[in-house]
Amino acid sequence: MLPKIILKKGKEKPVLRGHPWVFSGAVARAEGDLSPGEIGEVYSGDGNFLGMGQFNPHSQIILRMLTRKKEVLNSSFFKDRILRAYALREKKLQGKANAYRVVNGEGDFLPGLIVDRYKDILVLQCLTAGMERLKGLFIDLLVNQFHPKSIYERSDVSSRREEGLSEVKGPVYGEEIDDPVKIEEYGCWFRVDVKAGQKTGFYLDQRENRFSLREVSHGKKILDCFCYSGGFSIHAGIGRAKEITLIDSSEEALVKAKDHFAINHLENIPTHLTKGDAFEVMRNLEPDYDIVVLDPPPFARKKGHLPGASRGYKDLNLQAFRLLKKEGLLFTFSCSHHMDWDLFQKIIFAAAVDAGKRVQLLVRRGHPIDHPVDLSHPEGEYLRGMVLRVL
Ligand code: SAH
Repeated sequence: MLPKIILKKGKEKPVLRGHPWVFSGAVARAEGDLSPGEIGEVYSGDGNFLGMGQFNPHSQIILRMLTRKKEVLNSSFFKDRILRAYALREKKLQGKANAYRVVNGEGDFLPGLIVDRYKDILVLQCLTAGMERLKGLFIDLLVNQFHPKSIYERSDVSSRREEGLSEVKGPVYGEEIDDPVKIEEYGCWFRVDVKAGQKTGFYLDQRENRFSLREVSHGKKILDCFCYSGGFSIHAGIGRAKEITLIDSSEEALVKAKDHFAINHLENIPTHLTKGDAFEVMRNLEPDYDIVVLDPPPFARKKGHLPGASRGYKDLNLQAFRLLKKEGLLFTFSCSHHMDWDLFQKIIFAAAVDAGKRVQLLVRRGHPIDHPVDLSHPEGEYLRGMVLRVL
């Protein structure tokens, strides 16, 4: 007998609409062994079967839904989900980029599971007790389906604490990884340190947005704020930018960026690598740029952080508008889950007003195809970007 939870009356609506999370406050009672990661069933207060998922009694999210059907959640079930996710990437990205997200958690109907591909290396992240428990099964599936050279685990994320899990990382399959893996993204080369780089080594979610910068970079003077290993700048360089200034607070990031200019044969482009706080550095620059990129880390990790985060985004965007020449472009991003489109656009508007600039919104830019969002789970959307023109 599988363990069960029975919801309070009237609390079944989100589940019926496909939301993958059941909160502990919605549960009337439980039956059986609800140990962390256990697979079980969920019923409405009226006794109707609603679906199946993975329990974690230590988390506020007591159940993560995997299916609305009564079925056996075995290896072939998970294999289907992974192959369905992979098919989407393969179709769109084959021959263009060999680094992308293969499985995007809730967005691919596998809550808590992240798999990133960097050429022939896979990086695995298990964010929930349910996925932690099935780690071995996923490693076998990934080996059999994709034949990677190695699989490396990067479950060193603080959100695991909310699941009662500690942070872990290390090799879980295959050859030892000694060097950074050299990946290709639309004709740019990057060397990714999957063992110690930020996130799983690279900001895969910005691939298409970096490429869109390249298309307008020819002959331009560019400022790349929060550059990390130079993703946007390298695309701009391949697009024949005239001059590029990069800012990041991390020395290591700038060392990587410098290396990326070299391996892409872009040493002939005048570049200025600046280590420092982007807020400070930008304040001291002269207004003379054709394009500014702002890709800061998430300022609002919690809802309560929104007011402070909003001030941060406004300050940065105000500086960006100040630094842009007439007809200049701003590529501005937020990766704060709690910053919705509406608020972000209002902040950008307020920054433009304070900078005394007339600004056009040209296009909104968000997640790429390998970071899909389940419409039933809007919380999965976090990347919001805009391309704006200053008149
Ligand atoms: N644009 C990058 C990703 C940026 S991630 C890409 O496409 O790959 C955010 C970066 O901001 C990180 O590299 C981090 O080191 C840097 N950072 C965080 N706080 C900062 C600050 N106050 N000033 C400058 N850089 C900062």
